Amino acid sequence: MNTEELWQAMLAQIQFNISKANFATWFKNTEVLAKKDGQVIISVPNNFSKEWLENKYNKLIFKILHSLDEEIKEVKYSVDRPGLKASAAPVAVLESYDNDVPQLEFQELKIHKESNLNPRYTFESFIVGPFNELAQAAAWAVAKNPGATYNPLFIYGGVGLGKTHLLQAIGNEVSRKIPQKKIKYTSSEKFTSGIVNSIKNHDVEKFKSLYQDIDVLMIDDVQFLSGKEKTQEEFFHVFNGLYEKNKQIILSSDRPPKAISALEERLRSRFEGGMIADISLPDLETRLAILKAKAQEKRVSFADDILEYIAANIQINIRELEGALNRLTAYQKLNNKSPDLEIAKTLLKNVIFSPKRLANPEKIIRAVAVFYDLKERDLIAVSRKKEIVRPRQIAMYFLRKELKSSFPFIGKKFGGKDHTTAIHAYNKIAKEIETNENLTEEISLIKEQIYR
Ligand code: ADP
Ligand code: MG
Repeated sequence: MNTEELWQAMLAQIQFNISKANFATWFKNTEVLAKKDGQVIISVPNNFSKEWLENKYNKLIFKILHSLDEEIKEVKYSVDRPGLKASAAPVAVLESYDNDVPQLEFQELKIHKESNLNPRYTFESFIVGPFNELAQAAAWAVAKNPGATYNPLFIYGGVGLGKTHLLQAIGNEVSRKIPQKKIKYTSSEKFTSGIVNSIKNHDVEKFKSLYQDIDVLMIDDVQFLSGKEKTQEEFFHVFNGLYEKNKQIILSSDRPPKAISALEERLRSRFEGGMIADISLPDLETRLAILKAKAQEKRVSFADDILEYIAANIQINIRELEGALNRLTAYQKLNNKSPDLEIAKTLLKNVIFSPKRLANPEKIIRAVAVFYDLKERDLIAVSRKKEIVRPRQIAMYFLRKELKSSFPFIGKKFGGKDHTTAIHAYNKIAKEIETNENLTEEISLIKEQIYR
């Protein structure tokens, strides 16, 4: 076996052991540089890949290589590949410097008209870490075998954490493998306005018939169905029609089905009837991995300290990670040079130190009220209604935890209560979090909303 065959054989095997996305992320641009005296040197595209392979995959790589060729005793990774240095890569530029404009904008043209699929959202470009691996694995299983594994698949998580990306990736993957499958992606707002219009025009049946013979249906952000009774009813029938024919349904939401308020019970139980997978917040390591991968995708490179700075400071939204990268890219293009850390900090000031990112009592109260579908004023009033008591305790908990507010202040804020009430609320919630997973999850979803 020559070195190239050896590496191909290793790649073929390792694919069975790791996810497709991780394979694409970490092994795509690798090859064997040399093999000598029991040592194999793998060439990798950059330092980051090198570290990642050394720390995460070395054991596995070694095991496979050794099983293919017993002489191999050691594996090394090297970034020295002439001509492939990151700095030599051309700078690609984005149309927009505005952090709030998603990249989708300038790729819109490519979005498929009937399916609404954007080819940019694939499994290959989806980075997997501990925070999203369950959702990714479930999505991948569904894409491989639509209608047969988990139905429906329900993916939930906060804003900008990859729900739409995953839904679309499923659609793109199915359509790549089985082009004749009928696939449709839509948002629940679009679905709702379709229903509303068709009611106006007396052709609800016609509208629903558009969904009759779909093989894979993806509905994004179903939390917006909350309170829309008529739409929920029609959706229930669409859902059943497809479900009974073993057609695949994939849903996303910013919260689990049980936390969507004003959702018909029969629909909720449908949503819960398949697989529910969450996406939580990415850890620092994965944020860095995402930044590196996106930079590579855009063919730009920035110093490690800059990427580390971004990853350390943008913690709860992957879209904003991309936004930060876009700003730096724009600078690089305009000035024909890479920003240093100081310049990068200035460029990203608005993104990173934006005042909207700081919590205050009003934001906390609003977020808790929205989450539990209550009125803000009820939350801070004297009422002892059971459905309000607990959300109020949670709001009190947040004021203490996030703002370090004093207990007398908290008491006063919530209908002039005594500080002991605030202490009791804080302790109760803090204690319960340790054992109640549902509560922990609610707390983290609310926290995301507070810091949006
Ligand atoms: P959501 O629908 O949850 O609000 P999106 O799917 O729109 O979030 O993701 C926001 C942006 O972040 C998109 O550009 C998406 O491609 C990117 N993104 C999210 N998660 C990942 C990931 N795991 N790997 C790579 N890119 C990601
Ligand atoms: Mg989305």
